[in-house]
Amino acid sequence: MTTTQHHSALEAAELRVREAGRWLNLEDGLIDTIVAPRRIIEVSIPFRRDDGSRDLLHGWRVHHNTTRGPAKGGIRYHHEVNRDEVVALAIGMSLKTAIANLPLGGAKGGVCFDPKQYSAAEIERITRRYVSEISSFLGPDRDVPAPDVGTNAQVMAWIMDQYSTGVGHATPGVVTGKPIELGGSLGRESATGRGVVEAAALMLAKQGKDLAGQRIAIQGYGQVGMWAARLAAARGALIVGISDVSGTVHHAGGLDLAKIDAAIRDGARGVCAAGVGDVVARGLEGSPAVFALDCDIVMPCALGDAVHEKQANEMKARLVIEGANGPLTPTADLILADKGVTVIPDVYANAGGVTCSYLEQCQNFAHLSWDEDQVNARVIDLMRSAFERFHSFATESRLPYRLAATVLGVKTIADSHRMRGLHP
Ligand code: GLU
Repeated sequence: MTTTQHHSALEAAELRVREAGRWLNLEDGLIDTIVAPRRIIEVSIPFRRDDGSRDLLHGWRVHHNTTRGPAKGGIRYHHEVNRDEVVALAIGMSLKTAIANLPLGGAKGGVCFDPKQYSAAEIERITRRYVSEISSFLGPDRDVPAPDVGTNAQVMAWIMDQYSTGVGHATPGVVTGKPIELGGSLGRESATGRGVVEAAALMLAKQGKDLAGQRIAIQGYGQVGMWAARLAAARGALIVGISDVSGTVHHAGGLDLAKIDAAIRDGARGVCAAGVGDVVARGLEGSPAVFALDCDIVMPCALGDAVHEKQANEMKARLVIEGANGPLTPTADLILADKGVTVIPDVYANAGGVTCSYLEQCQNFAHLSWDEDQVNARVIDLMRSAFERFHSFATESRLPYRLAATVLGVKTIADSHRMRGLHP
């Protein structure tokens, strides 16, 4: 690895793609082409607050690579999101769709604000204005957004409505992760967590181990972490630790997930208020304590840059599955590699979400819907074949998993560039 702690997420992503390009002996011009986003749009989003005042936000949509299909990737609403982070995440999406072998490119969008501080009506107005500003970028064959941190099915419904109103007819295929009633896919909400758990099971199987009985610690109890916990527990794993903004809870015998879910449904503010296990650390600062717990597998399923040098040094797990995008800093990655910890990188490990998004598009284009078992089975099938391709490439090339995944993604994209040729 050539990356260090001092690199931003964007520098780290670009360096990884360049490293992969050099490993593949790609000509410099082709590496530059693969690193550079096809197009970036930056927009101002003026909108009306509930009290009648005007406010202004900033947003971006990045089409990173569109050689293999329409740009595809989520939209993030977060108060720290910025242009460079959106580009880094879009690079990750291009690699992810290539590694998962989906006929899609990579994109990402973001609006810089904290949705928790705004009413639903304000978020709707922000979403509609953002979509109208980027509408020339969007379309079922051009760019298809999806949920990411801070957005959900309701936001996707507003995007679909705003876009559809502009073109004059209902266009469900312009977004994925939308409500089932509007053409969303069954299984989409659980798909990322399902893929994370499958990634763990597939890796363990290569090591001659079973998921049942494994002790798992999960950071994040949102869309990804909650489903990863449920689905891993359903397969016999013990969820020994969970953390969220309220802190970290631990129980060596396995946490009672049903009790956590019931408490959260009843209004508990986070896992530490659920009355399960021991609270080992409180508050947002207490969330990284989950990484030091005695366990076999760690699943970081919250935000990027979650595992730093300290957490990597303290980690006891032997396997890390990246449910979030970019949860390990490059230095943490190096430390874990030195400790012999196996890391299954985000670009494969959390591809279950975009895989299900692809299946949602297939259903939209064919005007049909599959039942939940069919969708889940297809997600698992696609994740399995991608794992075989990724794992055999890593084994043959003797590259560490993250670099192997990047090389495989870059090679897939480079091949399609060569086959298509260069216009004009
Ligand atoms: N935001 C998710 C991701 O980072 C899903 C993207 C999609 O479904 O297009 O993979």
